[in-house]
Amino acid sequence: MGIIVQKFGGTSVGSIERIRSAAQRVIKETEQGNQVVVVVSAMGKTTDALVSLAAQLSDNPSKREMDMLLSTGEQVTIALLSMALQAEGKQAVSLTGWQAGIETEEFPSNARIVNIKTERIIGLLDKGNIVIVAGFQGMVKESGEITTLGRGGSDTTAVALAAALGAARCDIYTDVTGVFTTDPRVVSSARKIPSISYDEMLEMANLGAGVLHPRAVEFAKNYQVKLEVRSSQEEERGTLVEEEATMEQNLMVRGLAFEGNITKITVSNLPNGIETLSSLFSTLADNGINVDIIIQNVVNESTTNISFSIDSSVLAETQEVLAACQEELGFESIITEGGLAKVSIVGSGMISNPGVAAKMFKGLSQKGIMIKMVSTSEIKVSTVVSQADMVNAVETLHDVFELDVRQPAHQL
Ligand code: ADP
Ligand code: ASP
Ligand code: MG
Repeated sequence: MGIIVQKFGGTSVGSIERIRSAAQRVIKETEQGNQVVVVVSAMGKTTDALVSLAAQLSDNPSKREMDMLLSTGEQVTIALLSMALQAEGKQAVSLTGWQAGIETEEFPSNARIVNIKTERIIGLLDKGNIVIVAGFQGMVKESGEITTLGRGGSDTTAVALAAALGAARCDIYTDVTGVFTTDPRVVSSARKIPSISYDEMLEMANLGAGVLHPRAVEFAKNYQVKLEVRSSQEEERGTLVEEEATMEQNLMVRGLAFEGNITKITVSNLPNGIETLSSLFSTLADNGINVDIIIQNVVNESTTNISFSIDSSVLAETQEVLAACQEELGFESIITEGGLAKVSIVGSGMISNPGVAAKMFKGLSQKGIMIKMVSTSEIKVSTVVSQADMVNAVETLHDVFELDVRQPAHQL
């Protein structure tokens, strides 16, 4: 007996029928003698629909009002799920993020949770209630402003609550049966991974695997939350996200992640100097621009070219910031290349295997796929390719690393 946190994503509460079926899963958990806290997302594609309503009124709606608008989606679901449980004769109470004590920093649209005051939830659980909390939202303690946690942020609400409540488990119910070797909606031979380490899952999530919100994995790792990603429709066991996942024999790569909408920017003929790089990247950081892969090419003794990748959605802003500091930094020009994608392989097994990157590059080159940028860490290799090549690259690498096969004998 203990506290269990269950999270149901948009599709899993996308209709009244689905809400009823989620309620049955909740009831089943209480029948095991557990106290249950449920976190839900907005129904189906509600959040997208709200975003497009705002877009009809403004190209650049205020972030505060966007938070006010988007946080309504989850509020509908909590009330409906609570009613579904009450209709089954259960005691249930719904809470918005702020009622649940979720405090965030003041950073509209992408706020981080800074504290959770659990007294109210614990009080309700102890009175025999099932507590249903709206995902994806919180409140700034000082100002009372409503915030949201970034798209996909309900996962983070669930894991953060599990950590704060010392829950025995956090189950993430979604529309796939677990974490796969890559997105199963893109690669049909993708295979469910029985278990994956926090570090690998964090890389996968950060590199574009939308199945879990990256900050949820960060919380799970920092507070050692036992996490299982599983289907809300099927009974089979899902994927365990845990400290040390056993690497299947000879497997160097656990999974593949990918994301499109990337632009490469080259700042050309930047004068060489001890502070040049720090000035350039501090300026970008001060303006909130997130830079990903960075490549430096020394042109000659006095100048250097710097390339870096950004999300294409911040291109206009990046160009503005660079133009404003061109004179001060003394570079010659800004060259942009859009229409790019990042394809990454992830696996803790590659730490001691230098051949993995070479195998990746060879696989891509044999398919005529040009690699434009590369970045590596201990457990991942990312390549930037043309967006038109993205799916081909993912399918190719899935084959090259035999990710569809359970126990391959890899010859590097
Ligand atoms: P929810 O609404 O339940 O939070 P999401 O749409 O956020 O669901 O996440 C589930 C989706 O993540 C899947 O439908 C799938 O298309 C996508 N996805 C991307 N990468 C992976 C992966 N490696 N394994 C499983 N699903 C993935
Ligand atoms: N409803 C929010 C979104 O669609 C949060 C979530 O589903 O996790 O992004
Ligand atoms: Mg999600």
